[in-house]
Amino acid sequence: MLTHLECTRCGEHYPADRPQTVCPKDAGVLYARYDLPTIKRTFSSARLAGRAATMWRYDAVLPAADPISLGEGFTPMLASREFPNVFIKDEGLNPTGSFKARGLSACVTMARHYGLKKLAIPSAGNAAGALAAYAAAGGLEAHIFMPKDVPAANRIECDYYGAHVTLVDGLISDCAKKVAELKNSDVWEKEKWFDVSTTKEPYRVEGKKTMGYEVAEQLGWRMPQGIIYPTGGGVGLLGMWKAFEEMEALGWIGPERPKMITVQSAGCAPIVKAWDEGKSSSEMWANAATLASGLRVPKPYGDYLILDILKKSKGTAVSATDDEILEATRHWAKVEGIFAAPEGAACLVAYRKLRATGFFQPEDTVVLFNTGNGLKYLDVLDARVAAGASPAKPAQSSKPAARQIGGIIGPY
Ligand SMILES: [Zn+2]
Repeated sequence: MLTHLECTRCGEHYPADRPQTVCPKDAGVLYARYDLPTIKRTFSSARLAGRAATMWRYDAVLPAADPISLGEGFTPMLASREFPNVFIKDEGLNPTGSFKARGLSACVTMARHYGLKKLAIPSAGNAAGALAAYAAAGGLEAHIFMPKDVPAANRIECDYYGAHVTLVDGLISDCAKKVAELKNSDVWEKEKWFDVSTTKEPYRVEGKKTMGYEVAEQLGWRMPQGIIYPTGGGVGLLGMWKAFEEMEALGWIGPERPKMITVQSAGCAPIVKAWDEGKSSSEMWANAATLASGLRVPKPYGDYLILDILKKSKGTAVSATDDEILEATRHWAKVEGIFAAPEGAACLVAYRKLRATGFFQPEDTVVLFNTGNGLKYLDVLDARVAAGASPAKPAQSSKPAARQIGGIIGPY
């Protein structure tokens, strides 16, 4: 039912029967478009019942290709123990422990469908792990370019998945430059390389949009009043908004929309800055630094789309400091039993701020996206505890320090 690709800037159509990157005219992000009237006639939301509990249950609105699946998507929508009417969408339960699994499952599926062989990605960390896993499952080569200070889990998982890893001294934007250099070399075409950077190909958005379908389905086809989303590249925000438009065209939901809220780290908040200044695109954030590595994106490529969605949905953009994020990570773990990625815990910081200002009322249904699993950040969190930045150091034990007994570390 995929009919064509459409430029989000100029509206130009491009064929979907071959790999495409961005609009050749204006470098706009391309969106996959479907024959929604026909899907509406042949597929209803009631037919989802009993389907596989993965994102591919929505294959009626995804490209028709043989999926490379590791069981991604259809993650739990957990009711908050602390705030009535708040739900935590726990993306940490995805394969590779983050929401990146959705985008890369769809993207690598299409890459294999088109006969591509070598996939290159600049990544802040979790997208790298996801690409490496799906490339391994699909029999493609993954070439990863990531900052040398990514969480250890990202480096190690890529190694185990058999990906080719280049550690770059810099940020994701510097990694993107490395991929651009490679693109200008003569092997690019000959060896069937492809760049799967965020929003520089159309299908990661398609995978991520399934989060929007799930929000609707898991809330009984009623839209929440708000969605708080930690925004690095912003693919999920774009995808969910696209999903809502598709679902309205399919008659699955009405015209109502949640307020879409971007949360970023105070150490890298290009969207928050642009939003506060009323601008329609962002500027490169200088000296980006935050423990929430997924939010270290100094200028998202799809910034104009993110800002447009915030405006259309009557949403807003909020920042959270690293200390606030760390406290929220610990708070969620203790109160909700959810060991979240720091990026995800930033949603709690934003929710509290928006409740304090009256932007949200207690009766508003709000979905907070935990985008990853805290277990992928153990070294990052441990380093913070060691540096004394976290309020709760390990409690003093009355027992003497551990000593080694015959190669076993004893507790006494
Ligand atoms: Zn265009």
